[in-house]
Amino acid sequence: MTALQLLGYIGWAALIQLVVWTALGVWLGRRRARLSPPPEPAATAPWREFRVVRRVLEDPEGSQCSFHLVPVDGQPLADFRPGQFLTVSVVPPGAVRPVVRCYSLSDRPEPGQYRITVKRVPPPPDRPDLPPGLCSGYFHDHVAVGDVIGVRGPSGAFFLDSDPGLPALMIAGGVGVTPMVSMLRWQARAAPERPVHLVYAVQNSAVHAFRPELQALFRSCPAFHQTVVYASPLPTDVRGRDHDREGYVDLALVQPILQALGRCAVYVCGPPRMMEGLVPALREVGVDEADLHYEAFGPASAPRPAGLSPDGAGAAGVTLPVRFLRSGRTLDWTGRSENLLDFAEGAGVDIDSGCRAGHCGGCETRLVSGEVRYARPPAWEVAQDHCLPCVCVPVSAVELDA
Ligand SMILES: Cc1cc2nc3c(=O)[nH]c(=O)nc-3n(C[C@H](O)[C@H](O)[C@H](O)COP(=O)(O)OP(=O)(O)OC[C@H]3O[C@@H](n4cnc5c(N)ncnc54)[C@H](O)[C@@H]3O)c2cc1C
Repeated sequence: MTALQLLGYIGWAALIQLVVWTALGVWLGRRRARLSPPPEPAATAPWREFRVVRRVLEDPEGSQCSFHLVPVDGQPLADFRPGQFLTVSVVPPGAVRPVVRCYSLSDRPEPGQYRITVKRVPPPPDRPDLPPGLCSGYFHDHVAVGDVIGVRGPSGAFFLDSDPGLPALMIAGGVGVTPMVSMLRWQARAAPERPVHLVYAVQNSAVHAFRPELQALFRSCPAFHQTVVYASPLPTDVRGRDHDREGYVDLALVQPILQALGRCAVYVCGPPRMMEGLVPALREVGVDEADLHYEAFGPASAPRPAGLSPDGAGAAGVTLPVRFLRSGRTLDWTGRSENLLDFAEGAGVDIDSGCRAGHCGGCETRLVSGEVRYARPPAWEVAQDHCLPCVCVPVSAVELDA
């Protein structure tokens, strides 16, 4: 073999090695990209204007409507994790101040646009005299393609973990299916081989949302399954075609699914009544706290029943002075209100508010002095020297910039 031939062989060997390593690198890179979740966005973000570019009714009754949103400034969207929500700000006719509410993102993270899905909220059945939901009604009746709304986020601590090694059980009640649709759509693209079971509870086919979209998704992912539960099927609803079970989602329904999946990540989202029953029951049957993720969509306008505050002040006969500096009022906290926001409003002290659940930061107020306590760490990242009056109670004399 001549020196020239030898050089030629070495050259070919080096080239082949280069091609193999490059191909391997690309494959590994793709795989990592496929499995890694989008980066975690900041919990607090500035308000931005978004334009509605599309409206889609998601159920036969038309009570759930999706709004597709693009940023007016044309800048890139903040990334999000499937399950997180946007905080929106709108000014319905006659409102004296913006109305702030949270809506889960209902699509997987995509460049260019967000999708939220809003359910129209009627007055409570036993109080037809009350006004219907302010923000949801405004979205359904007034927000049209081309309109601009204020948006903050995405944020929230309820999102799909990215461990495809652990099966996922998603339990949704009513419009609580919105974050699950985002999770399912992301999972179907990122790792469709992950076993996932969706339990979706709704009244009946009239309000069965995202039906064609979910059917297509479940057809394309053999590892995904769903159980649809109707609380009150219509006479035309057929079991086996429209739904799988009748009644409510309880432990008896969920336990066999849990047993079949083995250890799994559990996601629960629905109305407060469903959550109150189901989440403790899941803990009792041994679902590990680390595997249990939940979020309640509480009605923002409905005041909660007055009760003792979580710290039991008042029960012990202790009163704490709460000074509202801007209103020039000092009131005695006796522990009879659920939180500082209810307490302030009950006494006629005005504080801006939004979700009333510690999610949106709408009521964030400067805590000038004193100490407060949260029953559960709020999803909103509270700025230093501030508090979220909607979910905290005082544990000492406090002064608030309100
Ligand atoms: C993290 C999070 C995510 C969410 N995601 C979604 C989502 O994806 N889709 C969705 O549709 N919703 C979602 N929600 C719920 C949403 O934020 C709103 O709470 C919901 O749209 C109702 O707001 P509203 O302004 O329409 O109703 P509100 O005006 O807050 O009224 C709520 C209810 O209170 C009643 N009411 C009004 N006044 C009174 C009164 N004085 N006394 C008693 N009751 C009264 C109304 O009739 C109505 O039944 C989410 C909530 C949170 C916290």
